[in-house]
Amino acid sequence: MSEQVNNSKNQKGATAREVCIHIARELSTLVKHTLGPNGLDNMLVDTAGDSVITNDGATIIQQSAIDHAVAKIIMNVAKTQDELCFDGTTSSLILTGEMMEQGAELLKDKVHPTKIALGFLMAALKAEELLLDMGMEVNEEMLNLAAQTAMTGKSAESDKEHLANICVEVAMAAPIEDITIVQRPNGKVQESTAIAGLLIDGEKLDHAMPDAVEDPKIGLIAADIDIPDYAQQLNVQLSDNSGVKDFIDSRNAQLVEIGERLKETGMNVLFCSREVHPAIIEHLASNNIYAVRRVRRSDMEALSKATNARIVMNIDTFSNKDLGSAGLLEEVTIGERPMIKLTGTPNKSTVSVLVRAPTEHVVAEIKRAFDDAIGVVSIAYEDKSVLPGGGAPYMQLSTKLKEFASTVGGREQMAVEAFANALEVIPKTLAENSGLDPIDAMIALRKAHTEEDGWKYGVNVNDGSATNMLDEGVIEPKRVVAQAIRSAADISAQLMRIQLITTAKPVSEIGDDDFKF
Ligand code: ADP
Ligand code: MG
Repeated sequence: MSEQVNNSKNQKGATAREVCIHIARELSTLVKHTLGPNGLDNMLVDTAGDSVITNDGATIIQQSAIDHAVAKIIMNVAKTQDELCFDGTTSSLILTGEMMEQGAELLKDKVHPTKIALGFLMAALKAEELLLDMGMEVNEEMLNLAAQTAMTGKSAESDKEHLANICVEVAMAAPIEDITIVQRPNGKVQESTAIAGLLIDGEKLDHAMPDAVEDPKIGLIAADIDIPDYAQQLNVQLSDNSGVKDFIDSRNAQLVEIGERLKETGMNVLFCSREVHPAIIEHLASNNIYAVRRVRRSDMEALSKATNARIVMNIDTFSNKDLGSAGLLEEVTIGERPMIKLTGTPNKSTVSVLVRAPTEHVVAEIKRAFDDAIGVVSIAYEDKSVLPGGGAPYMQLSTKLKEFASTVGGREQMAVEAFANALEVIPKTLAENSGLDPIDAMIALRKAHTEEDGWKYGVNVNDGSATNMLDEGVIEPKRVVAQAIRSAADISAQLMRIQLITTAKPVSEIGDDDFKF
Protein backbone atom coordinates (compact mmCIF):
# COMPACT_ATOMS: atom_id res chain seq x y z
CA MET A 1 0.00 0.00 0.00
CA SER A 2 2.99 2.30 0.33
CA GLU A 3 6.57 2.77 -0.77
CA GLN A 4 9.25 2.93 1.87
CA VAL A 5 12.69 4.41 2.22
CA ASN A 6 14.34 3.41 5.47
CA ASN A 7 17.75 3.69 7.07
CA SER A 8 18.75 0.02 6.98
CA LYS A 9 22.28 -0.58 5.80
CA ASN A 10 21.60 -3.47 3.48
CA GLN A 11 18.96 -1.76 1.46
CA LYS A 12 19.88 -0.63 -2.02
CA GLY A 13 19.68 3.06 -2.81
CA ALA A 14 19.60 6.00 -0.44
CA THR A 15 18.57 5.80 3.19
CA ALA A 16 15.79 8.03 4.50
CA ARG A 17 18.31 10.25 6.23
CA GLU A 18 20.44 10.50 3.10
CA VAL A 19 17.34 11.61 1.21
CA CYS A 20 16.74 14.38 3.78
CA ILE A 21 20.37 15.50 3.69
CA HIS A 22 20.43 15.46 -0.10
CA ILE A 23 17.26 17.53 -0.43
CA ALA A 24 18.38 20.04 2.22
CA ARG A 25 21.62 20.42 0.26
CA GLU A 26 19.77 20.85 -3.05
CA LEU A 27 17.53 23.57 -1.68
CA SER A 28 20.45 25.37 -0.11
CA THR A 29 22.37 25.19 -3.40
CA LEU A 30 19.43 26.74 -5.22
CA VAL A 31 19.63 29.91 -3.16
CA LYS A 32 23.16 30.05 -1.74
CA HIS A 33 24.71 32.22 -4.45
CA THR A 34 22.00 34.87 -3.93
CA LEU A 35 22.96 35.65 -0.31
CA GLY A 36 24.15 39.10 0.59
CA PRO A 37 24.88 42.36 -1.18
CA ASN A 38 26.93 40.70 -3.91
CA GLY A 39 24.63 37.73 -4.37
CA LEU A 40 23.58 36.88 -7.91
CA ASP A 41 20.04 36.47 -9.19
CA ASN A 42 18.10 33.46 -10.39
CA MET A 43 15.91 33.54 -13.47
CA LEU A 44 12.83 31.47 -12.88
CA VAL A 45 10.87 30.31 -15.90
CA ASP A 46 7.50 28.66 -15.35
CA THR A 47 5.89 26.03 -17.58
CA ALA A 48 4.04 28.76 -19.48
CA GLY A 49 7.38 30.41 -20.34
CA ASP A 50 6.82 33.43 -18.10
CA SER A 51 9.89 34.48 -16.20
CA VAL A 52 10.88 36.27 -13.00
CA ILE A 53 14.40 37.44 -12.24
CA THR A 54 14.93 37.53 -8.50
CA ASN A 55 17.28 36.85 -5.63
CA ASP A 56 14.51 36.44 -3.11
CA GLY A 57 14.94 33.06 -1.40
CA ALA A 58 11.23 32.50 -0.77
CA THR A 59 10.29 33.29 -4.38
CA ILE A 60 13.00 31.00 -5.77
CA ILE A 61 11.94 28.11 -3.59
CA GLN A 62 8.23 28.60 -4.25
CA GLN A 63 8.77 28.39 -7.98
CA SER A 64 11.32 25.60 -7.95
CA ALA A 65 10.02 22.34 -9.26
CA ILE A 66 11.47 20.20 -6.46
CA ASP A 67 8.50 18.05 -5.67
CA HIS A 68 9.25 15.88 -2.67
CA ALA A 69 7.62 15.66 0.73
CA VAL A 70 10.93 16.42 2.46
CA ALA A 71 11.45 19.45 0.21
CA LYS A 72 8.01 20.70 1.21
CA ILE A 73 8.93 20.46 4.88
CA ILE A 74 12.14 22.43 4.30
CA MET A 75 10.34 24.98 2.15
CA ASN A 76 8.14 25.62 5.15
CA VAL A 77 11.21 26.96 6.93
CA ALA A 78 11.46 29.68 4.30
CA LYS A 79 7.71 30.25 4.38
CA THR A 80 7.62 30.64 8.14
CA GLN A 81 10.63 32.93 7.99
CA ASP A 82 8.92 35.08 5.39
CA GLU A 83 5.63 35.19 7.30
CA LEU A 84 7.12 36.02 10.68
CA CYS A 85 10.10 38.15 9.71
CA PHE A 86 9.69 39.24 6.04
CA ASP A 87 13.40 38.64 5.49
CA GLY A 88 16.13 36.10 6.07
CA THR A 89 14.59 33.35 3.93
CA THR A 90 17.82 32.63 2.08
CA SER A 91 19.74 32.53 5.35
CA SER A 92 17.21 30.10 6.88
CA LEU A 93 17.57 27.69 3.94
CA ILE A 94 21.36 27.88 3.91
CA LEU A 95 21.44 27.26 7.66
CA THR A 96 19.16 24.24 7.32
CA GLY A 97 21.36 22.85 4.53
CA GLU A 98 24.51 23.36 6.58
CA MET A 99 23.05 21.86 9.76
CA MET A 100 22.09 18.76 7.79
CA GLU A 101 25.56 18.70 6.25
CA GLN A 102 27.15 18.88 9.72
CA GLY A 103 24.70 16.25 10.93
CA ALA A 104 25.82 13.99 8.08
CA GLU A 105 29.43 14.26 9.27
CA LEU A 106 28.39 13.22 12.78
CA LEU A 107 26.49 10.25 11.38
CA LYS A 108 29.68 9.15 9.63
CA ASP A 109 31.36 9.29 13.06
CA LYS A 110 28.61 6.96 14.31
CA VAL A 111 26.92 9.53 16.51
CA HIS A 112 23.34 8.38 17.03
CA PRO A 113 20.73 10.56 15.28
CA THR A 114 18.78 11.18 18.51
CA LYS A 115 21.95 12.55 20.10
CA ILE A 116 22.44 14.84 17.12
CA ALA A 117 18.83 16.04 17.32
CA LEU A 118 19.13 16.61 21.05
CA GLY A 119 22.43 18.48 20.72
CA PHE A 120 20.98 20.72 17.98
CA LEU A 121 18.00 21.60 20.15
CA MET A 122 20.23 22.30 23.16
CA ALA A 123 22.40 24.56 21.02
CA ALA A 124 19.36 26.37 19.62
CA LEU A 125 18.03 27.04 23.13
CA LYS A 126 21.39 28.33 24.23
CA ALA A 127 21.57 30.55 21.12
CA GLU A 128 18.21 32.07 22.05
CA GLU A 129 19.43 32.77 25.53
CA LEU A 130 22.62 34.37 24.22
CA LEU A 131 20.63 36.49 21.80
CA LEU A 132 18.73 38.04 24.70
CA ASP A 133 21.91 39.80 25.75
CA MET A 134 22.83 40.90 22.25
CA GLY A 135 21.39 43.81 20.32
CA MET A 136 20.92 47.52 20.22
CA GLU A 137 17.96 49.80 20.89
CA VAL A 138 16.29 51.13 17.78
CA ASN A 139 16.00 54.73 16.71
CA GLU A 140 14.94 56.24 13.40
CA GLU A 141 18.44 56.04 11.99
CA MET A 142 18.76 52.37 12.90
CA LEU A 143 15.39 51.66 11.31
CA ASN A 144 16.51 53.44 8.18
CA LEU A 145 19.73 51.42 8.04
CA ALA A 146 17.81 48.18 8.62
CA ALA A 147 15.60 49.02 5.64
CA GLN A 148 18.66 49.80 3.50
CA THR A 149 20.37 46.57 4.56
CA ALA A 150 17.26 44.56 3.64
CA MET A 151 17.32 46.09 0.15
CA THR A 152 21.05 45.62 -0.45
CA GLY A 153 21.84 43.36 -3.36
CA LYS A 154 18.38 43.73 -4.89
CA SER A 155 17.21 45.87 -7.81
CA ALA A 156 16.01 48.36 -5.22
CA GLU A 157 19.59 48.98 -4.10
CA SER A 158 20.39 52.01 -6.25
CA ASP A 159 17.46 53.91 -4.77
CA LYS A 160 17.62 52.40 -1.31
CA GLU A 161 17.91 55.70 0.53
CA HIS A 162 14.73 57.08 -0.97
CA LEU A 163 12.89 53.79 -0.46
CA ALA A 164 14.20 53.40 3.10
CA ASN A 165 12.81 56.84 4.01
CA ILE A 166 9.39 55.72 2.78
CA CYS A 167 9.67 52.45 4.74
CA VAL A 168 10.43 54.21 8.01
CA GLU A 169 7.72 56.82 7.45
CA VAL A 170 4.96 54.28 6.89
CA ALA A 171 6.14 51.61 9.32
CA MET A 172 6.14 54.16 12.15
CA ALA A 173 2.73 55.49 11.09
CA ALA A 174 0.80 52.22 10.84
CA PRO A 175 0.88 48.54 11.70
CA ILE A 176 2.04 46.42 8.78
CA GLU A 177 -1.49 45.04 8.15
CA ASP A 178 -2.73 48.56 7.43
CA ILE A 179 -0.07 49.31 4.81
CA THR A 180 -1.09 48.76 1.20
CA ILE A 181 1.63 48.57 -1.44
CA VAL A 182 0.72 49.21 -5.06
CA GLN A 183 3.07 48.87 -7.98
CA ARG A 184 2.92 50.78 -11.26
CA PRO A 185 5.46 50.64 -14.11
CA ASN A 186 6.38 53.42 -16.60
CA GLY A 187 8.02 55.63 -14.00
CA LYS A 188 11.17 56.28 -12.05
CA VAL A 189 11.91 54.58 -8.73
CA GLN A 190 12.42 58.08 -7.29
CA GLU A 191 8.74 58.76 -7.98
CA SER A 192 7.76 56.07 -5.49
CA THR A 193 5.92 57.66 -2.61
CA ALA A 194 3.90 57.16 0.56
CA ILE A 195 0.30 58.35 0.71
CA ALA A 196 -1.89 58.85 3.77
CA GLY A 197 -4.91 56.93 2.52
CA LEU A 198 -5.67 53.99 0.30
CA LEU A 199 -4.56 53.39 -3.29
CA ILE A 200 -6.43 50.83 -5.34
CA ASP A 201 -5.47 49.64 -8.78
CA GLY A 202 -8.67 50.09 -10.79
CA GLU A 203 -10.85 52.45 -12.79
CA LYS A 204 -14.46 53.49 -13.13
CA LEU A 205 -16.72 51.33 -15.25
CA ASP A 206 -18.17 54.09 -17.37
CA HIS A 207 -16.92 57.44 -18.64
CA ALA A 208 -20.10 59.10 -17.47
CA MET A 209 -19.26 58.29 -13.87
CA PRO A 210 -17.67 61.10 -11.81
CA ASP A 211 -13.86 61.47 -11.56
CA ALA A 212 -14.07 62.36 -7.90
CA VAL A 213 -16.61 61.90 -5.13
CA GLU A 214 -16.53 64.07 -2.05
CA ASP A 215 -17.67 62.50 1.20
CA PRO A 216 -18.22 59.12 -0.51
CA LYS A 217 -20.63 56.53 0.90
CA ILE A 218 -18.93 53.31 -0.03
CA GLY A 219 -20.48 49.91 -0.73
CA LEU A 220 -18.39 46.72 -0.96
CA ILE A 221 -20.10 43.84 -2.74
CA ALA A 222 -18.45 40.45 -3.18
CA ALA A 223 -21.00 38.98 -5.62
CA ASP A 224 -22.08 39.39 -9.23
CA ILE A 225 -24.41 42.34 -9.54
CA ASP A 226 -26.90 40.90 -11.97
CA ILE A 227 -30.23 39.14 -11.99
CA PRO A 228 -29.93 35.72 -10.36
CA ASP A 229 -28.34 32.89 -12.34
CA TYR A 230 -31.50 30.81 -12.51
CA ALA A 231 -33.29 33.68 -14.24
CA GLN A 232 -30.62 33.76 -16.95
CA GLN A 233 -30.82 30.08 -17.66
CA LEU A 234 -34.59 29.86 -18.07
CA ASN A 235 -35.77 28.34 -21.30
CA VAL A 236 -38.62 30.54 -22.41
CA GLN A 237 -40.81 29.76 -25.40
CA LEU A 238 -42.22 32.89 -26.96
CA SER A 239 -44.85 32.78 -29.67
CA ASP A 240 -44.80 36.33 -31.03
CA ASN A 241 -42.78 39.55 -31.14
CA SER A 242 -44.66 41.22 -28.37
CA GLY A 243 -43.81 38.26 -26.13
CA VAL A 244 -40.12 38.78 -26.88
CA LYS A 245 -40.47 42.48 -26.14
CA ASP A 246 -42.31 41.84 -22.87
CA PHE A 247 -39.65 39.36 -21.82
CA ILE A 248 -36.76 41.77 -22.53
CA ASP A 249 -38.62 44.64 -20.88
CA SER A 250 -39.21 42.63 -17.76
CA ARG A 251 -35.53 41.61 -17.55
CA ASN A 252 -34.44 45.23 -18.02
CA ALA A 253 -36.93 46.31 -15.37
CA GLN A 254 -35.41 43.82 -12.94
CA LEU A 255 -31.90 45.11 -13.69
CA VAL A 256 -32.96 48.71 -13.23
CA GLU A 257 -34.63 47.71 -9.98
CA ILE A 258 -31.33 46.30 -8.71
CA GLY A 259 -29.55 49.53 -9.69
CA GLU A 260 -32.30 51.52 -8.00
CA ARG A 261 -32.10 49.47 -4.81
CA LEU A 262 -28.32 50.03 -4.66
CA LYS A 263 -28.83 53.75 -5.10
CA GLU A 264 -31.52 53.89 -2.42
CA THR A 265 -29.06 52.71 0.22
CA GLY A 266 -27.43 56.12 -0.18
CA MET A 267 -24.32 54.57 -1.74
CA ASN A 268 -22.43 56.73 -4.22
CA VAL A 269 -19.30 54.60 -4.61
CA LEU A 270 -19.37 50.88 -5.35
CA PHE A 271 -16.49 48.41 -5.26
CA CYS A 272 -17.53 45.03 -6.60
CA SER A 273 -15.19 42.04 -6.54
CA ARG A 274 -17.12 40.29 -9.35
CA GLU A 275 -19.00 41.47 -12.47
CA VAL A 276 -21.62 44.18 -12.84
CA HIS A 277 -24.29 43.81 -15.54
CA PRO A 278 -23.95 46.51 -18.25
CA ALA A 279 -27.53 47.72 -17.74
CA ILE A 280 -26.81 48.22 -14.04
CA ILE A 281 -23.55 50.03 -14.86
CA GLU A 282 -25.56 52.39 -17.05
CA HIS A 283 -28.09 52.96 -14.31
CA LEU A 284 -25.37 53.67 -11.74
CA ALA A 285 -23.60 56.06 -14.15
CA SER A 286 -26.78 57.98 -14.87
CA ASN A 287 -27.20 58.41 -11.12
CA ASN A 288 -23.67 59.75 -10.70
CA ILE A 289 -22.54 56.67 -8.78
CA TYR A 290 -18.87 55.75 -9.12
CA ALA A 291 -18.38 52.00 -9.61
CA VAL A 292 -15.46 49.58 -10.07
CA ARG A 293 -15.58 45.84 -10.75
CA ARG A 294 -13.21 42.88 -10.32
CA VAL A 295 -11.65 44.45 -7.25
CA ARG A 296 -9.10 42.13 -5.70
CA ARG A 297 -9.98 40.42 -2.45
CA SER A 298 -7.03 41.99 -0.64
CA ASP A 299 -8.20 45.42 -1.83
CA MET A 300 -11.77 44.70 -0.67
CA GLU A 301 -10.40 43.83 2.75
CA ALA A 302 -8.21 46.94 2.86
CA LEU A 303 -11.21 49.07 1.82
CA SER A 304 -13.34 47.53 4.53
CA LYS A 305 -10.72 48.17 7.16
CA ALA A 306 -10.07 51.75 6.05
CA THR A 307 -13.66 52.88 5.52
CA ASN A 308 -15.57 50.65 8.00
CA ALA A 309 -17.73 49.33 5.15
CA ARG A 310 -18.93 45.75 5.47
CA ILE A 311 -18.20 43.35 2.62
CA VAL A 312 -21.61 42.06 1.51
CA MET A 313 -21.97 38.69 -0.21
CA ASN A 314 -25.63 38.95 -1.15
CA ILE A 315 -27.06 42.05 -2.82
CA ASP A 316 -30.53 41.33 -1.45
CA THR A 317 -29.35 41.99 2.09
CA PHE A 318 -27.28 45.07 1.20
CA SER A 319 -28.38 48.14 3.19
CA ASN A 320 -27.12 51.57 4.23
CA LYS A 321 -25.76 50.03 7.44
CA ASP A 322 -23.13 48.28 5.31
CA LEU A 323 -21.75 51.51 3.86
CA GLY A 324 -18.36 52.91 4.69
CA SER A 325 -17.09 56.47 4.43
CA ALA A 326 -14.07 58.61 3.55
CA GLY A 327 -13.23 62.26 2.92
CA LEU A 328 -12.58 62.05 -0.80
CA LEU A 329 -12.37 59.50 -3.59
CA GLU A 330 -10.45 60.50 -6.70
CA GLU A 331 -9.39 58.78 -9.85
CA VAL A 332 -5.82 59.79 -10.59
CA THR A 333 -3.63 58.92 -13.57
CA ILE A 334 -0.33 57.29 -12.70
CA GLY A 335 1.96 55.77 -15.30
CA GLU A 336 -0.61 56.42 -18.05
CA ARG A 337 -3.26 54.41 -16.26
CA PRO A 338 -5.95 55.32 -13.76
CA MET A 339 -5.76 54.47 -10.08
CA ILE A 340 -8.21 55.10 -7.27
CA LYS A 341 -7.15 57.20 -4.31
CA LEU A 342 -9.14 57.33 -1.11
CA THR A 343 -8.23 59.86 1.57
CA GLY A 344 -9.68 61.04 4.87
CA THR A 345 -10.71 57.52 5.88
CA PRO A 346 -12.10 56.86 9.38
CA ASN A 347 -9.21 54.46 10.08
CA LYS A 348 -6.51 57.09 10.40
CA SER A 349 -3.62 54.66 10.23
CA THR A 350 -4.41 53.68 6.64
CA VAL A 351 -1.32 54.28 4.52
CA SER A 352 -0.30 53.21 1.05
CA VAL A 353 2.93 53.09 -0.83
CA LEU A 354 3.10 53.56 -4.54
CA VAL A 355 6.12 51.76 -5.98
CA ARG A 356 7.27 53.03 -9.36
CA ALA A 357 9.90 51.69 -11.77
CA PRO A 358 10.47 51.68 -15.53
CA THR A 359 9.18 48.20 -16.44
CA GLU A 360 6.83 45.49 -15.17
CA HIS A 361 9.75 43.20 -14.26
CA VAL A 362 11.68 45.85 -12.37
CA VAL A 363 8.66 47.21 -10.56
CA ALA A 364 7.71 43.69 -9.43
CA GLU A 365 11.21 42.99 -8.13
CA ILE A 366 11.40 46.35 -6.38
CA LYS A 367 8.05 45.71 -4.78
CA ARG A 368 9.31 42.35 -3.45
CA ALA A 369 12.38 44.06 -1.98
CA PHE A 370 10.19 46.81 -0.61
CA ASP A 371 7.80 44.29 0.99
CA ASP A 372 10.80 42.81 2.83
CA ALA A 373 12.20 46.17 3.85
CA ILE A 374 8.91 47.50 5.18
CA GLY A 375 8.37 44.29 7.14
CA VAL A 376 11.89 44.46 8.53
CA VAL A 377 11.38 48.02 9.73
CA SER A 378 8.02 47.10 11.27
CA ILE A 379 9.37 44.20 13.28
CA ALA A 380 12.48 46.12 14.33
CA TYR A 381 10.20 48.95 15.49
CA GLU A 382 7.90 46.48 17.26
CA ASP A 383 10.67 44.48 18.95
CA LYS A 384 12.80 47.58 19.60
CA SER A 385 15.94 45.56 18.97
CA VAL A 386 18.42 45.26 16.10
CA LEU A 387 21.73 43.53 15.50
CA PRO A 388 24.76 44.26 13.35
CA GLY A 389 24.60 42.30 10.04
CA GLY A 390 27.27 40.87 7.78
CA GLY A 391 27.11 37.54 9.59
CA ALA A 392 28.22 39.14 12.89
CA PRO A 393 25.54 37.57 15.13
CA TYR A 394 26.06 34.12 13.59
CA MET A 395 29.78 34.36 14.20
CA GLN A 396 29.28 35.58 17.76
CA LEU A 397 26.82 32.79 18.55
CA SER A 398 29.15 30.27 16.96
CA THR A 399 32.01 31.45 19.17
CA LYS A 400 29.90 31.37 22.33
CA LEU A 401 28.35 28.00 21.51
CA LYS A 402 31.78 26.45 21.11
CA GLU A 403 32.56 27.61 24.66
CA PHE A 404 29.20 26.24 25.80
CA ALA A 405 29.85 22.87 24.10
CA SER A 406 32.72 22.09 26.44
CA THR A 407 30.27 22.25 29.36
CA VAL A 408 27.86 19.80 27.74
CA GLY A 409 29.88 16.62 27.50
CA GLY A 410 28.93 13.32 25.86
CA ARG A 411 27.93 12.89 22.23
CA GLU A 412 25.64 15.91 22.48
CA GLN A 413 28.77 18.03 22.85
CA MET A 414 29.78 17.02 19.34
CA ALA A 415 26.35 18.03 18.06
CA VAL A 416 26.53 21.42 19.78
CA GLU A 417 29.95 21.98 18.17
CA ALA A 418 28.57 20.91 14.80
CA PHE A 419 25.71 23.37 15.24
CA ALA A 420 28.20 26.13 16.10
CA ASN A 421 30.16 25.30 12.95
CA ALA A 422 26.97 25.36 10.88
CA LEU A 423 26.26 28.97 11.95
CA GLU A 424 29.53 30.06 10.33
CA VAL A 425 28.02 29.28 6.94
CA ILE A 426 26.40 32.73 6.81
CA PRO A 427 29.54 34.90 7.06
CA LYS A 428 31.42 32.34 4.98
CA THR A 429 28.86 32.48 2.18
CA LEU A 430 28.80 36.29 2.31
CA ALA A 431 32.58 36.25 1.71
CA GLU A 432 32.35 33.62 -1.02
CA ASN A 433 29.60 35.46 -2.87
CA SER A 434 31.74 38.59 -2.88
CA GLY A 435 34.57 36.77 -4.63
CA LEU A 436 36.70 36.80 -1.48
CA ASP A 437 38.73 34.02 0.06
CA PRO A 438 36.34 32.53 2.62
CA ILE A 439 39.12 30.92 4.66
CA ASP A 440 41.00 34.19 5.15
CA ALA A 441 37.78 36.03 5.90
CA MET A 442 36.79 33.46 8.53
CA ILE A 443 40.20 33.54 10.20
CA ALA A 444 39.98 37.32 10.52
CA LEU A 445 36.42 37.14 11.78
CA ARG A 446 37.05 34.40 14.36
CA LYS A 447 39.89 36.45 15.79
CA ALA A 448 37.78 39.63 15.96
CA HIS A 449 35.03 37.78 17.82
CA THR A 450 37.24 36.88 20.71
CA GLU A 451 37.95 40.57 21.33
CA GLU A 452 36.04 43.29 23.18
CA ASP A 453 33.16 44.59 21.00
CA GLY A 454 33.96 41.75 18.60
CA TRP A 455 30.30 40.75 18.39
CA LYS A 456 29.69 43.74 16.12
CA TYR A 457 32.17 42.49 13.54
CA GLY A 458 31.01 40.99 10.27
CA VAL A 459 32.41 40.36 6.83
CA ASN A 460 33.47 43.43 4.94
CA VAL A 461 32.24 42.42 1.49
CA ASN A 462 34.67 44.78 -0.23
CA ASP A 463 37.95 43.47 1.11
CA GLY A 464 37.15 40.44 3.28
CA SER A 465 38.38 42.08 6.47
CA ALA A 466 36.49 41.80 9.75
CA THR A 467 34.73 45.14 10.14
CA ASN A 468 32.43 46.76 12.70
CA MET A 469 29.11 46.49 10.89
CA LEU A 470 27.63 49.45 12.77
CA ASP A 471 30.25 51.66 11.13
CA GLU A 472 29.20 50.19 7.79
CA GLY A 473 25.51 50.83 8.52
CA VAL A 474 24.66 47.13 8.11
CA ILE A 475 21.82 46.44 10.55
CA GLU A 476 19.17 43.72 10.81
CA PRO A 477 16.31 43.01 13.20
CA LYS A 478 17.06 40.51 15.95
CA ARG A 479 13.92 38.57 15.11
CA VAL A 480 15.24 37.75 11.61
CA VAL A 481 18.36 36.11 13.03
CA ALA A 482 16.61 34.41 15.95
CA GLN A 483 13.87 32.93 13.79
CA ALA A 484 16.25 31.72 11.06
CA ILE A 485 18.31 29.82 13.63
CA ARG A 486 15.28 28.49 15.49
CA SER A 487 13.51 27.08 12.44
CA ALA A 488 16.68 25.68 10.85
CA ALA A 489 17.48 23.92 14.15
CA ASP A 490 13.96 22.58 14.64
CA ILE A 491 13.71 21.20 11.15
CA SER A 492 17.21 19.69 11.13
CA ALA A 493 16.56 17.97 14.45
CA GLN A 494 13.27 16.67 13.11
CA LEU A 495 14.79 15.39 9.85
CA MET A 496 17.65 13.71 11.71
CA ARG A 497 15.14 11.66 13.66
CA ILE A 498 13.40 10.29 10.58
CA GLN A 499 14.00 6.57 10.29
CA LEU A 500 11.50 5.71 7.62
CA ILE A 501 9.81 7.58 4.79
CA THR A 502 6.65 5.90 3.60
CA THR A 503 4.91 7.33 0.61
CA ALA A 504 1.22 6.68 0.20
CA LYS A 505 0.30 5.44 -3.25
CA PRO A 506 -2.42 7.26 -5.13
CA VAL A 507 -5.77 5.48 -4.70
CA SER A 508 -5.77 4.52 -8.41
CA GLU A 509 -2.62 2.42 -7.89
CA ILE A 510 -3.97 0.45 -4.96
CA GLY A 511 -4.89 -3.02 -6.17
CA ASP A 512 -7.33 -5.48 -4.62
CA ASP A 513 -4.49 -7.17 -2.73
CA ASP A 514 -4.00 -4.09 -0.65
CA PHE A 515 -7.43 -4.47 0.89
CA LYS A 516 -7.38 -7.46 3.18
CA PHE A 517 -10.16 -7.07 5.64
P1 ADP B 1 18.12 36.76 3.14
O1 ADP B 1 17.05 36.20 2.26
O2 ADP B 1 18.63 35.73 4.10
O3 ADP B 1 17.73 38.03 3.81
P2 ADP B 1 19.94 38.38 1.60
O4 ADP B 1 20.41 38.10 0.23
O5 ADP B 1 19.00 39.51 1.81
O6 ADP B 1 19.35 37.05 2.20
O7 ADP B 1 21.24 38.63 2.49
C1 ADP B 1 21.16 38.94 3.85
C2 ADP B 1 22.52 38.93 4.48
O8 ADP B 1 23.39 39.89 3.86
C3 ADP B 1 22.43 39.31 5.95
O9 ADP B 1 23.23 38.45 6.70
C4 ADP B 1 22.98 40.74 5.97
O10 ADP B 1 23.55 41.08 7.20
C5 ADP B 1 24.02 40.66 4.86
N1 ADP B 1 24.37 41.98 4.32
C6 ADP B 1 23.56 42.88 3.74
N2 ADP B 1 24.25 43.99 3.39
C7 ADP B 1 25.54 43.78 3.74
C8 ADP B 1 26.75 44.55 3.64
N3 ADP B 1 26.76 45.74 3.09
N4 ADP B 1 27.89 44.00 4.12
C9 ADP B 1 27.88 42.76 4.66
N5 ADP B 1 26.78 42.00 4.79
C10 ADP B 1 25.62 42.49 4.34
MG1 MG C 1 17.27 39.84 2.89
